[in-house]
Amino acid sequence: MNPTASDTHPIEKAADEFGRNVIEAHAEQWNSNGTVPREFFQQAAEHNLCRLLVPHELGGAGLDVGGFTRVLTILARHCLASTFALVVHNNLTAAIARSGIERHIDSYLQAMMKGEKIGAFLLTEPGAGSDAAAISTTARRQGDDWILNGSKAWISNAVHADVLSVYVQTNESSGARGIAGFLLDAEMAGVSRVPPYDLLGGHALGTGGFQFNDCLVANGALLAAPGEAFKAAMHGINLARCGVAAMCVGLMQRALSEAINYTGQRTAFGAQLGDFQGVQWILADCATDLEAAQALTAIATRLIDSGGDATLAAAHAKKFATRTAFKCVTDCMQVMGAAGLSRSYPLARHLEAAKMAQYLDGATEIQNVVIARQLKAVYAD
Ligand SMILES: Cc1cc2nc3c(=O)[nH]c(=O)nc-3n(C[C@H](O)[C@H](O)[C@H](O)COP(=O)(O)OP(=O)(O)OC[C@H]3O[C@@H](n4cnc5c(N)ncnc54)[C@H](O)[C@@H]3O)c2cc1C
Repeated sequence: MNPTASDTHPIEKAADEFGRNVIEAHAEQWNSNGTVPREFFQQAAEHNLCRLLVPHELGGAGLDVGGFTRVLTILARHCLASTFALVVHNNLTAAIARSGIERHIDSYLQAMMKGEKIGAFLLTEPGAGSDAAAISTTARRQGDDWILNGSKAWISNAVHADVLSVYVQTNESSGARGIAGFLLDAEMAGVSRVPPYDLLGGHALGTGGFQFNDCLVANGALLAAPGEAFKAAMHGINLARCGVAAMCVGLMQRALSEAINYTGQRTAFGAQLGDFQGVQWILADCATDLEAAQALTAIATRLIDSGGDATLAAAHAKKFATRTAFKCVTDCMQVMGAAGLSRSYPLARHLEAAKMAQYLDGATEIQNVVIARQLKAVYAD
């Protein structure tokens, strides 16, 4: 669990240091403040954590999905919400790099890799979540330009975002084929921020919304043309699901280690809590779930890295890891007694995050939709 082995990637070591020294020290304060501070991204960048998926040729760390998810597991041991803030930011840097569009690379990528500009991904709307193709924010042609109108909801990094990857409908009768993606400056005329939401927890992520009111956008701001954008958004979904699963593995690792440490030193009825078989079996079940979640995540990430179709594997990993993280964290809290509820330990924060993870990048039921679609092909005689 401790990335100190000599063959550990330098970025995993940097992530471990950043997690222990920066995230661990501030996670509760960020949750109370409603967001990470802007400097969080600059500090992360100093540890090379804002360039994880960008190829070496463009100045990035060039990690594959396996490397990326290992970093996420390490960071999420301390706080999933702030780790996810970095995931969203890194995913957008990767999308900009992949687009190969020089003006976007020049305008945004370098500043984002330094943590000076912060990215957000705007797909979900007040009226369209799981059914993302049903978005109703519109982009209408006006000469060479476009006019955007509509609302986006549940946007990670909404509090600080400077660079917005916005998905819009260009032709209401075309469904997913009419969806285009633009890359916009959050401060441009016609864009306004909705204040961050008051949630169960996970406030470090600064989740909120945006409104677009007659926002005039040049055609050059297109990141993905109609017909390409929805495919591009879905292109990254398996990676995103592996990322959520990997973060849940980090939550489980931390919960288990806190519970083992605590029950190893607290006594009741003249014995250590950890010596009671009832406690041991709860923790043994957590360990099995953790190993299984890690294995499913590794299967899915290896498939992506080898160019295979990871749709089914990523759905299994995301569903299993998010479900078991929620159970594992609550079970570890239980064996710690009342102390498990205390914010002096990270488990309360991790429980909130485990619930949140069940919605990120497709809710649990949507993973089941994906899995159910392939049941016959995989299991029928
Ligand atoms: C903290 C947080 C951060 C987020 N960050 C972002 C972000 O940065 N960018 C972004 O675009 N979005 C973001 N989201 C939105 C997220 O992707 C959506 O919440 C998710 O897709 C689910 O959509 P919904 O909440 O509208 O639920 P709905 O779509 O309204 O679904 C409600 C319930 O019905 C179930 N359901 C829906 N369809 C089916 C079906 N066919 N069969 C069975 N059950 C079904 C769902 O699983 C869910 O349980 C974020 C969400 C959260 C909570």
